[in-house]
Amino acid sequence: QVTDTLAKEGPSSPSYDWFQTDSLVTVVIYTKQKDISLDSVIVDLRDDSLRVETFIKDYSYLIHIGLSREIQEDFSVRVVENVGKIEIVPKKKENASWKCLGHPLENHNSLIPKKDTGLYYRKCQLISKEDVTHDTKLFCLMLPPSTHLQVPIGQHVYLKLTIAGTEIVKPYTPVSDSLLLEFKEPVLPNNKYIYFLIKIYPAGLFTPELDHLQIGDYVSVSNPEGNFKITQLEELEDLFLLAAGTGFTPMVKVLNYALTNIPSLRKVKLMFFNKTEDDIIWRSQLEKLAFKDERFDVEFVLSAPTSEWKGKQGHISPGLLSEFLKRSSDRSRVLVCICGPVPFTEQGVKLLHDLNFSKDEIHSFTA
Ligand code: FAD
Ligand code: NAD
Repeated sequence: QVTDTLAKEGPSSPSYDWFQTDSLVTVVIYTKQKDISLDSVIVDLRDDSLRVETFIKDYSYLIHIGLSREIQEDFSVRVVENVGKIEIVPKKKENASWKCLGHPLENHNSLIPKKDTGLYYRKCQLISKEDVTHDTKLFCLMLPPSTHLQVPIGQHVYLKLTIAGTEIVKPYTPVSDSLLLEFKEPVLPNNKYIYFLIKIYPAGLFTPELDHLQIGDYVSVSNPEGNFKITQLEELEDLFLLAAGTGFTPMVKVLNYALTNIPSLRKVKLMFFNKTEDDIIWRSQLEKLAFKDERFDVEFVLSAPTSEWKGKQGHISPGLLSEFLKRSSDRSRVLVCICGPVPFTEQGVKLLHDLNFSKDEIHSFTA
């Protein structure tokens, strides 16, 4: 049985359809786009409502249906890339023929600019929490079985907790659980774990509460946001990463992805700004990676070192950058990524323009 219509606006008129067997329901989304992957679709099943958000260029296409019969909580998601088709396949609780898929819920079958969509949250369970430095921890959250969500490289999510009766929301950037594991692309569809490196500020509003959570407690996690596009890495030869403090977090997946998936890549250099040696996140992993992969170099710069520190010192400056940002050849295809405290990023971007890097050659991670 064919349900419903084409959406009326937007670039590509996506549509959907559904069919069934005795035990399965298949909801098919025709995106009419070819660059669709498993991270283009977010599925949440909640109390027998099905919510599917598909990202098509800068638009969001929503399927939102109150299902007519009960389904099991887990389901599979498949993407047929060359025809831009997405299939969501829930299992019926009872083997019986459904007369219809269900009834439309709020904003069902709508195509709206991504910037106009609100944040949608699902509750994730805290699985583990591990010290990384004196104030930064690696948190592992598990998505519910009733959610399919993969955070695209370079994007962040919002975490939400209710603190003294008020909902508090802050952005965080997922990382890999380590720099040294083999990086697989596309990420396995059953990948249910999201890792975060989070610095706890004792006088902060959100992070002390996050730190007080017990294993098994819940945190709400939003849909991803951010304007980094993986195509910025295509055919890249030189990748420069300028990170300060936890501004290192977006660099983790970018670094892993580039080293594994960009054959043209010649050099990846990370300049990592911190106050002291004790603040450096994953220092030994970074040093091991530099030893293992000759394309990768790391340089640490400290703004408040002890007298024993023999390495580079100070804040971001023209001198530090002009020496560091040497292209492997005059006309090499280059990207400089920068992330850290706002004044750091602002000064850095200005210095990069002064050094004649073009707008397209700079990506700054911001909210
Ligand atoms: P806040 O309450 O914001 O306070 C932070 C610090 O500032 C505390 O020391 C506090 O005492 C001090 N402070 C607060 N207000 C003032 C004031 N008016 N004057 C002077 N000092 C003040 N962080 C991570 O650790 N990991 C990440 O992956 C990460 N990703 C991010 C991604 C994005 C896109 C952005 C924008 C930020 C990201 N952050 C990340 C930062 C994160 O969102 C929070 O800002 C951070 O965790 C602090 O939150 P908090 O509520 O605990 O602290
Ligand atoms: P921090 O206070 O430990 O400082 C780290 C380094 O940043 C310092 O050693 C110094 O070199 C540089 N720095 C700090 N203040 C500076 C200033 N005023 N001017 C020039 N350089 C300066 O850093 P932290 O506590 O780890 O904070 C990290 C920041 O990164 C936070 O503000 C966080 O919001 C931001 N962040 C942003 C994103 C994103 O936008 N995508 C992701 C992660 C973190």
